[in-house]
Amino acid sequence: MKKILALLLSLFLVLGFSACGEPKGWYTEGEIKITERQAEKIIDGEFTEPENIIVIIGDGMGPNDITLAEKNVEGVYDFGLVLNKIKNHGLATTHSADNEITDSAASGTALSTGVKTNNGYIGKDTEGNDLKNMAEIAREAGKKIGIITDEDLSGATPTAFVVHNISRSNTAELVNSMIKFKPDVLMCKDYMGVYAPLDSEARKIFDSEYLVAKDFKRFKETLDTDPDSEKPFLGFLEGFSTMPSNNLAQCTEVALKRLKNDNGFFLMIESSGTDKFGHKNNMSGKLNSVVTLDRTIVAVLKFMKNNPETILVITSDHETGGVRLPEGDEDLKDLLTLTEHTATPVRVFAVGKGTEYFSGKTVDNTDIAKFLIKAIKGE
Ligand SMILES: [Zn+2]
Repeated sequence: MKKILALLLSLFLVLGFSACGEPKGWYTEGEIKITERQAEKIIDGEFTEPENIIVIIGDGMGPNDITLAEKNVEGVYDFGLVLNKIKNHGLATTHSADNEITDSAASGTALSTGVKTNNGYIGKDTEGNDLKNMAEIAREAGKKIGIITDEDLSGATPTAFVVHNISRSNTAELVNSMIKFKPDVLMCKDYMGVYAPLDSEARKIFDSEYLVAKDFKRFKETLDTDPDSEKPFLGFLEGFSTMPSNNLAQCTEVALKRLKNDNGFFLMIESSGTDKFGHKNNMSGKLNSVVTLDRTIVAVLKFMKNNPETILVITSDHETGGVRLPEGDEDLKDLLTLTEHTATPVRVFAVGKGTEYFSGKTVDNTDIAKFLIKAIKGE
């Protein structure tokens, strides 16, 4: 009888463990949820000296995009945007060295290096010299590096954080430089857009040194093939979309899990729809991209709950579309006044130790970089 009991007990334990012992998914499937109270509790939490530095960029996301998305877009949390729960916020000017109205190359360079440059330049000063960028500074500090964008890898924003080129139009050179830099985590859209332009050296690195997942569905199986490896992970995500998307947030969760280590990391995440749809005169796509960015913030805040040694800054590289606020009950689609960038200052939101710095004032985009670079260096 005792033997039978013991057998039953061990059988129960085995079954029990296989049913409940396995962690349930290693990234969020479906909704990215948070309550108002949970969000406030994390934002108001105690933060320690930063080891992990995270910057989220809403490309082309102007102040009015945020105001309009809060009240007018399906898919915003019932308490509004998480972004608007962040208490430390201010504005940033965005002009480039040679133009009142910046492009994403010059502003990406300013946000990554703390130095103004000309429109079109990636990680170079106005004389064409290389500027030290955030990925390089993070690597020198012994930190891991993650770059996530829902646009092409050759985009001005992701490349300005990692490489150097005199022109954002040299897309093949930019892709090659990005692959050769080997960030620990690299996520972008369009597999062929990355693979096709590779030179022989970069192709060899791509084939032999990276763990590559050709689409989001293959992230898990790819990482599971070699879960403890130090190989850089290159994953292809779904890309920006006209509807609010969880994909950028899910990819961020994967990246955070992969990047976490004792020396900390630097992670840049770009939500690009706020720019792309501004250029296409698509106001609903633009505002839905604010929601995509907001869910990504939730993924980061949930990480910060258990990792208080983290700083998060959310900003934009410039405004796109000259978006105005409605008079009376105007249709949202009539509020885009241009399909170009403007000189309107952008908003800056920040969570973490020392981020009161941004509260209630206007800084320049180079000041954001200087603040983050100090944090990366541990100064
Ligand atoms: Zn643009």
